[in-house]
Amino acid sequence: MTSGQDESSVRVALRIRPQLAREKIEGCHICTYVMPGEPQVILGKDKAFTYDYLFDMDSQQDAIYTTCTEKLIDGCFEGYNATVFAYGQTGSGKTYTMGTGFDVNIVDEELGIIPRAVHHLFKGIEERRQAAQEQGRPVPEFKINAQFLELYNEEVLDLFDSARDMKQKSLIKIHEDANGGIYTVGVTTRTVSSEAEMMQCLKLGALSRTTASTQMNVQSSRSHAIFTIHLCQVRVCASDNQENESDNRVSNGNSEMDEYETLTAKFHFVDLAGSERLKRTGATGDRAKEGISINCGLLALGNVISALGDRSKRASHVPYRDSKLTRLLQDSLGGNSQTVMIACISPSDRDFMETLNTLKYANRAR
Ligand code: ADP
Ligand code: MG
Repeated sequence: MTSGQDESSVRVALRIRPQLAREKIEGCHICTYVMPGEPQVILGKDKAFTYDYLFDMDSQQDAIYTTCTEKLIDGCFEGYNATVFAYGQTGSGKTYTMGTGFDVNIVDEELGIIPRAVHHLFKGIEERRQAAQEQGRPVPEFKINAQFLELYNEEVLDLFDSARDMKQKSLIKIHEDANGGIYTVGVTTRTVSSEAEMMQCLKLGALSRTTASTQMNVQSSRSHAIFTIHLCQVRVCASDNQENESDNRVSNGNSEMDEYETLTAKFHFVDLAGSERLKRTGATGDRAKEGISINCGLLALGNVISALGDRSKRASHVPYRDSKLTRLLQDSLGGNSQTVMIACISPSDRDFMETLNTLKYANRAR
């Protein structure tokens, strides 16, 4: 792994998955080359792209987690929102990277980002409680909620709602509060008190995503899945915390005793729809409608990300309202929040064109 530098709040990682057995058997060639020691990839003969981080075929899950997500979880404890999303064509490793595949035989080393983040989060809570106890300070209080949504055809579906009906129009609404915070109405919120409980929720939601799409005879690769963790913390104000500029920080202003502050943060983990839909042409009816609306989310996200990377646009107009996806993520993309896009690609020459599209898309963020 190698890393570049960037001031922007959006960072881009590229992950090249290893060749799959089938690709090897069928004689696919590797068409990606990573410059040793540099976050640069060369596709084919001469198409060079540089990102913040680069993970070649042999990269391990823990390296990706440590580089792309760990610090963002730490930020949540200080009230900063975060988003990590996986972008790429179907089969490029998005779900593997996010860690919502839940293969029965998965070994610990293969766990993806979300299970690792959940572990780190609960460990962080325990450490903060213990440290306060040892130092005789009031123990901070934590409340953790989870939501799991799926965006399909510009419709918001609730993966925690087992009774949901994909044929019925969803009643979920996305709103913005006076401070620019985004909240949803009509979404199941699970309060979770342990790592095991959170993993159970995640599994059920992921399972529900695949089952529903099988029943409806549609592929889950056409929808975006958004797993969100809300962290609410009440703690004694840290006096050395003046530089904390999070919008999500409210103190009680009571000077008689210890002064308390409430910090809230949310972390979105997004497994995006397969990007190959972007180029789909010639589809008719429902298929065409699907193609168009998935385009809508991914296109809007690309536009938001590139506006955030452009100083002049960042101040004026970031087009969050162009899709449900960007609207939902609005307060966790840009501003004081931290965002990492993990662009996933296949190394095989058969995927050359889709890989090139992904490399270009990811490049817009820089
Ligand atoms: P996507 O979600 O983008 O459609 P998947 O995550 O399902 O892609 O990955 C496609 C296949 O490749 C799966 O069988 C997955 O286990 C495998 N795979 C993806 N990334 C890796 C990796 N880094 N190492 C080993 N296998 C991987
Ligand atoms: Mg997937």
